[in-house]
Amino acid sequence: MNDNDLPVDPQRPCPICGKPALVKFKPFCSKRCADVDLHRWLSGSYVIPATEDDDEDGDSTPAPGGDEDER
Ligand SMILES: [Zn+2]
Repeated sequence: MNDNDLPVDPQRPCPICGKPALVKFKPFCSKRCADVDLHRWLSGSYVIPATEDDDEDGDSTPAPGGDEDER
């Protein structure tokens, strides 16, 4: 039995790009995608939810009444 002879693993598509994963880079299709995943881990993207579009708070919903002084 030599698993490394298998070129791709159709059961498990690459979680990064969705292509058939190479057995050599399981579960990714290439080293590049494996690196992408690794970087996600290192940069904490898996832990911290994406907030790039969120401008902290207050910018999108200003007080409609205009009574900002009287909370
Ligand atoms: Zn991939």
